[in-house]
Amino acid sequence: MRLRFLGAAQEVTGSLLLVEVASGTIAVDCGMFQGRREESRQRNRQLPAEAIHADVAILTHSHIDHSGNLPTLVKSGFTGSIYATPATLDLCAYMLRDSARIQTGDAAYLNRKFQNDPDWIPIVPLYDETDVLQALERFVAIPYHHAFEPLPGVKATFLNSGHILGSAQLVLDISDNGHSRRLVVSGDLGRQGLPIIRDPEPPPLPVDYLVIESTYGNRLHGTVEQMHDDLERVVKDSVRRGGKLIVPAFAVGRTQEILYVLHGLFKAGRLPAIPIFIDSPLAINVTEVFRLHPECFDAETRSFLDEHGDVFSFQGVRYVRTPEESMEINRHAGPAIIISASGMAEAGRVLHHLRNHVGDERSTILIVGFMAQHTLGRRFVERRPRVKIWGLERDVRARVEVLNAFSAHADRGDLLKYVEACGAMRRVFLVHGEPDQQGPLRATLAERGVCVHVPERGDTIELE
Ligand SMILES: [Zn+2]
Repeated sequence: MRLRFLGAAQEVTGSLLLVEVASGTIAVDCGMFQGRREESRQRNRQLPAEAIHADVAILTHSHIDHSGNLPTLVKSGFTGSIYATPATLDLCAYMLRDSARIQTGDAAYLNRKFQNDPDWIPIVPLYDETDVLQALERFVAIPYHHAFEPLPGVKATFLNSGHILGSAQLVLDISDNGHSRRLVVSGDLGRQGLPIIRDPEPPPLPVDYLVIESTYGNRLHGTVEQMHDDLERVVKDSVRRGGKLIVPAFAVGRTQEILYVLHGLFKAGRLPAIPIFIDSPLAINVTEVFRLHPECFDAETRSFLDEHGDVFSFQGVRYVRTPEESMEINRHAGPAIIISASGMAEAGRVLHHLRNHVGDERSTILIVGFMAQHTLGRRFVERRPRVKIWGLERDVRARVEVLNAFSAHADRGDLLKYVEACGAMRRVFLVHGEPDQQGPLRATLAERGVCVHVPERGDTIELE
């Protein structure tokens, strides 16, 4: 069998891995690449032919950097089934449509804005809602722990990866040319004790080959308990200064976690009453999907639910659906929390709020997730004094706070523990990480006697 690393190799977006066996090819994930605008357009539009001709696809979770280019794959000619967990399927039904809408909206806005610029090359969206529906028709929902056979000779099983609702590790038991081998693809791994969802499951032994994410291969997060203290401090500070607290957050996972922690802080009397706007139609729909899947909740969230009722609705929370309501938030005087997508501040409504408040020194921009290189979110993390929003340079006068404890990704300690739990393996491949995070993780694993490899994009590796 062979592995072909076609995306998220020494980078964190555009996940795409091919597993080639005698009976056919499986594409694992087909995510949107996010980075420099021109490169993104080109890479997202031109998917590798080997991926388009894969027999089946398996999706580890619904985040757009893993799922966001499945509509392009289907539009380009892919005709196989796409396997995912039921919660991932439900989330994708909203997220991929939202992705199509954002692309169409942004393209129309920018093409209009620059219509008189002779150098402007009009933007064409990657896909529209019809393409998304065609991709969704190919989805097959498979619950955790139910083995299925995507190709003859391949048994596949989803295990919980504890990253977001529905997220899965993929276990492939492959009989190929007389050999039986187990390949585990970690997908994005969560942390022990993250709010709401269950913790990641240990991998089944023995493991022959492991493809593991390495987003935070060289960083330790604060404790999950630290999250509560940090958020309390940032919210109180923001209220004191009388400004808005703007949180660019992924609609899936981070938005619900922040709400859950805020809910707990209010219940404990640790925060004053303050309006919280969830300004993302997608986050609203996704929160509904969370309500539909309490089977994914951990014991703590279940008991919170029993005690306090709905985890995601409480005094002060307002869900903002229409663009008119979104614009009205601007007229809201006094402190408020505005949670809005997209997570890396590259598109969507959060850009309006950032544009309106980035120059206001009373405001706070709170970064709670990983920001890929060259995204607007990353520029805030890098404390750039000026940033570009919709093509216009603006001074950053708002306070920028970065809370890594909120990360839905395993940190260095979690990753090392996971690899250790896999026991002796033939080979380990690090994906979904930037070189500064992968290098130190690779070095530590090599010191521990693990045969570890960091593939480049385009690498094909034969496995025994
Ligand atoms: Zn993810």
